[in-house]
Amino acid sequence: MRLAERHFGVAAACVIPGESNGRWSGAGLDAPLREALRSLQDASGAPWLSEPLVVTDTGADPVWRTFLSTASALPLRFVASWPLRRATGESIGSLCLIDHAPRELGDAERASLNDFARIASALVDQQVSAAIQCDEVEALRIRERLLTLAIAGSGTGIWDRDVVTGEIQYSTGWKAILGYTDDELTNRIEDSYKRLHPDDVDYVKAAMQAHFEGRTESYEVEHRIRCKDGRYKWICSRGKVMSRDDEGRALRMVGTTTDITSMREMAERLRESANLVTNLTNEVPGLVFQCRRSPDGRLSFPYASAGIAEIYELTPEAVSQDGSCIDALIHPDDLDAWHASFTHSAAYLQPWHLEYRVQLPTQGLRWRQGDAKPQRLANGVTVWHGFITDVTERKRIEAELHEFATTDGLTLLSNRRHFMSRLEAQLAQLRRAGGAQSAVLMCDLDHFKSINDCWGHAIGDQALRHFADILRTNLRAGDVAGRIGGEEFAVLIGAASVEGARVVAQRIQRHVAEQPLTSNAGPVALTVSIGITEMTAEDANAEAALSRSDFALYRAKKNGRNRIECA
Ligand code: GH3
Ligand code: MG
Ligand code: MG
Repeated sequence: MRLAERHFGVAAACVIPGESNGRWSGAGLDAPLREALRSLQDASGAPWLSEPLVVTDTGADPVWRTFLSTASALPLRFVASWPLRRATGESIGSLCLIDHAPRELGDAERASLNDFARIASALVDQQVSAAIQCDEVEALRIRERLLTLAIAGSGTGIWDRDVVTGEIQYSTGWKAILGYTDDELTNRIEDSYKRLHPDDVDYVKAAMQAHFEGRTESYEVEHRIRCKDGRYKWICSRGKVMSRDDEGRALRMVGTTTDITSMREMAERLRESANLVTNLTNEVPGLVFQCRRSPDGRLSFPYASAGIAEIYELTPEAVSQDGSCIDALIHPDDLDAWHASFTHSAAYLQPWHLEYRVQLPTQGLRWRQGDAKPQRLANGVTVWHGFITDVTERKRIEAELHEFATTDGLTLLSNRRHFMSRLEAQLAQLRRAGGAQSAVLMCDLDHFKSINDCWGHAIGDQALRHFADILRTNLRAGDVAGRIGGEEFAVLIGAASVEGARVVAQRIQRHVAEQPLTSNAGPVALTVSIGITEMTAEDANAEAALSRSDFALYRAKKNGRNRIECA
């Protein structure tokens, strides 16, 4: 600018930046001039940025006069301005000549000003480019620092392999994974293969080869690698060929290495504990399960032990998503209870317990017992953990014991205790229903002692069984017959009057008379005496009704036997 100022012999030469906050530079630029130019720049909208401009006398130009000061003395009279542009064409300001007196600018001077402007443009362009480069370098430096921190923080190592020379560079973090310092380890690929676990060498090389040959998008393998201390770590190595020659041969490859030892160990421990659970539950007789019930009531069994093959003749897979196929195996009479038991357990979060029957394709009818504890998840799903076992044998024994406890061994009729409890139950029913009645019969074989004496005790037993059969054939399903003494039998006939019961009693007597017991030694004639009474809601207890029928029987005996008396 000093050169321009002297060359043109003007008061000032300066570069006015295109942007209002840009840097001013110039020669001979005092404070009043600078102030005047600023206000000129603000007021005029800087017309000098686009086209060369020469104002020989601002005082003679009314527009410029108003642009400048209203003061009587104009701060400048001559202005010549040449636009400055970057190589890209972008405007960066103007080169300005300013004088206090009016003056002309000849053609030679215009050419010179044009040359000055070109030189100034080149210099400014250089400065701007340098500043931009500086910003870019700084941004790169920041990015690199962040990347380095991220890589170091992730425990990832980086490698960079020259495929042609067989050289491989490792990052500090890579060496740290294996326990080496930065200056340890060679950079030869042959040495890196020596650190691989012998069992892993083949598939690592195969994966690398596949990627070299372009058969895979990238290289990725998990394998073991020997550390400085001789132990092996599991790592995950990922990489990609970055450049290839014209024939597609790999030239350079970069990649990362992550230590996955603890992840592998954790996965291994998880696998072991899952196996332990599976092995244990598979050894337990019966089915160990996890059951889920969605809010809409559907059941599924995400976990079922091998015992499901015995319990339902199904596979764990068949019920893992949808357990509805079990419905078809539950005994129809128990299906409602099966669903209701889960609904109840889920509603009150009470332990699930159910004894139920299944009808299986191979095993047929079997008894099952299930027990499980419910839990409610946040999403409303109920989950049970429990087991189902086969209780068919227990149920059979229970039934046998029940029969043993309630049946008379010789005649297979109810024994006295069971007959009395049935009688009590009937009385309770009469009291509940009100008005209805039942008949109680007491039967005693006549002169049974002499049957024994005459035919022997075994025939006597046969006679008792024979009479029991006669009772069974002459009674209806709801009636109860019991042997309550040696040769004494009681019968409960529901919803019958004394007269109705008498008809039954007569039928029994007729049957006894018409069909005597046939023994080896010939027919054994029997007769029976029967006492009848009515049991009503007013009876104090069942024993009272039975006593009355016994009294009627006594009368039958007294009046000559083979008779029916009522009380
Ligand atoms: P009554 O007409 O007065 O009833 O005469 P009874 O002989 O039938 O009456 P009693 O009470 O004198 O005799 C009952 C007999 O029944 C005596 C006993 O030996 C016999 N008895 C009781 N229990 C059994 C049994 O389980 N088997 C056999 N064979 N006889 C029995
Ligand atoms: Mg008797
Ligand atoms: Mg008798």
